[in-house]
Amino acid sequence: MPENHNCPRMELARAQRQEDTMVVQVPTSYEYKVTYGQPRRTTGHVYFSPKELKHLAVAVLLVIGVGVSYVLLADGFGGDLILVASASAAVLTASFFVHEMAHKITAQKRGLWAEFRLTLWGSLLTAVFMILPVFFKIISPGAVMISGPASNNDIGKISIAGPITNIIFASVFLAAAFVPTPIYWVFVAGAFINGYIAVFNLIPIGILDGYKIFNWNKTVWAVTFALSVVLTAASYIIIY
Ligand SMILES: [Zn+2]
Repeated sequence: MPENHNCPRMELARAQRQEDTMVVQVPTSYEYKVTYGQPRRTTGHVYFSPKELKHLAVAVLLVIGVGVSYVLLADGFGGDLILVASASAAVLTASFFVHEMAHKITAQKRGLWAEFRLTLWGSLLTAVFMILPVFFKIISPGAVMISGPASNNDIGKISIAGPITNIIFASVFLAAAFVPTPIYWVFVAGAFINGYIAVFNLIPIGILDGYKIFNWNKTVWAVTFALSVVLTAASYIIIY
């Protein structure tokens, strides 16, 4: 063996042997999961994991915070601070929560893994809008993450489920706004916000729902987009 005598180029022999037995180590400072083989398939039941419930709780608190922040604009709503805070928080939380759950339930019913997760930049952006005294807020504390073998048809239907909930909310609120009540402005604002959320999410670019819907079925995209624009415009006309 080279080690047994004073060989001048022994390090070459040693290096060769070490390479043979080298173990490839995965860096432990990053946390990630690797799924080998078939992605997880679920049984088609709606299920919430404990981790998902924690993420949803934080997301809902952030959205409530954004809703309450409308008191900073309360002069424009008639000045009743508690009513403004609670109505805005209720409308925003319902609009956000039902939209995300529509994506999740549609995906889980199709046997896919689907859970809500907070995203760092989305949460920070939402927190910023809690402080900024502007009417147009961005609410994006996280998103439903989906995994599994999904067809183009699955992706289209999962994507359209979210904006459909806002179109329904906007229609119901707009109808309710025609009933003469002291809080009719809550319904007008609710209709406008839901119409605006639908229009925004249906823009056919990037990571938005609209991009996946546009690629799946252009007729469905055009009809839902037009409907959202009409609902938003109608509530805007009533406001002013
Ligand atoms: Zn969505």
